[in-house]
Amino acid sequence: MNIIRHISIRRKITLIIMLVSMVSLCLALAAFIVAERSSAHQFAAKNLKTMAEVIAANSKAAIIFRDNIAAEETIEFLHYQEHILAAAIYDAEHELFAAYTKPGVEAGVPTPHSDHDNVLFWDNYVELVNSISHEGQLIGHVYLRSDFRLIQDHLSWFAIIALLVFFCSLLISFLLSERLQQIITAPLLSLSEIARKITTEKNYALRLQSDSRDEVGNLISDFNEMLDQIQLRDNELELHRSSLEDLVTKRTSDLELANRELEAAKLEAEEIAERMEYHAHHDALTGLPNRHLLIDRISIALSHAHRENILAGVLYLDLDRFKLINDSLGHAIGDQLLRVVAQRLNGCIREDDTVARLGGDEFMVLLPSIEKTSDAGYIGKRIIDALSEPVICDGYELNITTSIGVSIYPYDGKETDALIKSADVSMYRAKSLGRNRLVYYTAEMNEESRKRLTLETDLRKALEKQELALLYQPIVDTRKNMVLGAEALILWNHPTMGVIPPAEFIPIAEDTGLIIPIGEWVIRTAFERLRCWNDAGHLNMRLAVNLSPTQLSRPGLVSIVEHAISEFQVNPYKLDFEITENVATQNLESATVTLKNLKKLGISISLDDFGIGYSSLSHLHVLPIDTIKIGQSFVRNIPDSLGDMSVAQAIIAMANSMDLSLIAEGVENIKQMNFFRQQGIHVIQGHLFSEPVPEEEILEMLESRTTLTPLNVVK
Ligand code: C2E
Ligand code: MG
Ligand code: MG
Repeated sequence: MNIIRHISIRRKITLIIMLVSMVSLCLALAAFIVAERSSAHQFAAKNLKTMAEVIAANSKAAIIFRDNIAAEETIEFLHYQEHILAAAIYDAEHELFAAYTKPGVEAGVPTPHSDHDNVLFWDNYVELVNSISHEGQLIGHVYLRSDFRLIQDHLSWFAIIALLVFFCSLLISFLLSERLQQIITAPLLSLSEIARKITTEKNYALRLQSDSRDEVGNLISDFNEMLDQIQLRDNELELHRSSLEDLVTKRTSDLELANRELEAAKLEAEEIAERMEYHAHHDALTGLPNRHLLIDRISIALSHAHRENILAGVLYLDLDRFKLINDSLGHAIGDQLLRVVAQRLNGCIREDDTVARLGGDEFMVLLPSIEKTSDAGYIGKRIIDALSEPVICDGYELNITTSIGVSIYPYDGKETDALIKSADVSMYRAKSLGRNRLVYYTAEMNEESRKRLTLETDLRKALEKQELALLYQPIVDTRKNMVLGAEALILWNHPTMGVIPPAEFIPIAEDTGLIIPIGEWVIRTAFERLRCWNDAGHLNMRLAVNLSPTQLSRPGLVSIVEHAISEFQVNPYKLDFEITENVATQNLESATVTLKNLKKLGISISLDDFGIGYSSLSHLHVLPIDTIKIGQSFVRNIPDSLGDMSVAQAIIAMANSMDLSLIAEGVENIKQMNFFRQQGIHVIQGHLFSEPVPEEEILEMLESRTTLTPLNVVK
């Protein structure tokens, strides 16, 4: 059945026609053969009957007269009848009367058992028994046996012909069906072909033409109708598709855009993360590694140094008086300077070394592998030299110096923290030794640094606890041994450490910024004292007050001074502000402006400790100073050092040429005083006349003894 389902409709129709034809022909043939056979039987029976009646008629007399011979002659003619196999005549008692058997036929004649006529058809022959009657009375029977094969041959021929006809008919019906099925299949095949074409080409404009009005015609027109619908849908679909495509294209491009944006955002996020990572480990201003990264690198370097049994060095750098520049010239210039410093530091180190900025003006250099301790000093020296070159920022020529503390692994610390701390401590030592130098760590420094830390903590409370005090050192005119004025000098009465001299705590006050409130307190206290002296009638008494570089860099100084002047009603023309040379070298321009503003108030400016060698003499031309105080460190070696004496002479000559007043300070003996007097300097400050003393003693000096005599006269 499956095979039938898969064969083409053409073959199916042909097959159906053939089957129908075959069945019809078979039935017709069978009917014909049956009819032919029955007519052959009837013909044979009729023929035999006729023959039997002829024999009966001819043998009647012979039976009646019991003439066997006549009867036998009667049936003897049968040998002309080829198909008669045997014949017999019986009397009424069924006794054989005459018989005939075709030569060659063995079987004899049977005895009839009944009086009735009958015909019996056997396989190969036909038997007939016919009664012989005379005048209505049965007188005997005729028996005939005829060969049936002739009829069968006839029937066989008939069957052969019928079969031939059958096959011819089949052939004809096949040929006809082949042609006729096209009436049905041709449009169907065209339909199928069109359908396939439409399926493969998706061309819904194709149509099938048909004039027929039958079911196929209807099918085709329905198919065309369906195609119309499909085409309509297809067009709509196409429209939808193209709009969908447009939408998809738009969405795709939107998506691509979003994707690109996302990608860009991702990149940006990565960049930000990288930048954050970078910023987390680098200093934003200089781009140098920051403290975190440095500590990491030191830890790595130390474990490496430990494994390899080598030395490593850490240099702790703090720029000297950087705060001044920052405060006076502004942060922008301070930042520029720090960047230049960072560049110069980078130029001093090897590739494996690290320069980091710890914050503010503090830098650190890690030397992860050095052969000997002095290598660190060599690098430090190189850094000091590199920084000694003036830096030009916004037209300002800035001279920067640095103090460097050095610690060496493993001697000064085996852990990162310890090594950094040792470098830090030695850096402070470098500061206290006068800055602009490099100091190696020694174990004793720890004690000093602890002390410094204590001082720093205590100094913060010293003002409010009223532990600070001013002493006054008289400034004397040696011609008359008269007190011209006094210099206010601070000291700190520390509750446990006793009296701490300014040289020890003023640098701490400067570093911590405490110098600002302390400085203001000094100005106000000293002015108040001058007010008292003035009130006591000493109106010509002069007062000298020291100004720190940091104070000078703050814009508020002039107004503080103005306020103090008006508050204590002191004569500004009797005031001297002492500045040191390093003020000028750090911050020449803004210092000059502030000093000029102070001078406008009537205050004189003295250049303190001149000659100890901070900077060039050229600053003398720029700074608005009135007086030079020749430094004590310098005076100390007079008259023993010829060199110092000639320098002093040169300074004096220069000051005279510039019309500047001169004060020799730190004068301890007559020789020194005489030296200066010979040079025409009569104003002297020093232990020769008086150490710094409390305010009452100054008043005493002024009131009881208007003339001072040298205390320890060396003739
Ligand atoms: P300076 O202004 O040069 O003060 C003179 C210093 O020399 C004083 O030391 C004084 O005691 C000392 N001196 C005076 N005559 C002699 C002498 O004949 N022989 C010796 N060996 N020394 C003598 P002091 O009081 O220890 O002050 C040291 C420095 O501290 C001052 O030097 C000044 O620069 C600073 N200083 C003192 N008071 C203040 C202050 O109120 N503010 C600021 N910013 N600095 C101050
Ligand atoms: Mg002074
Ligand atoms: Mg001095």
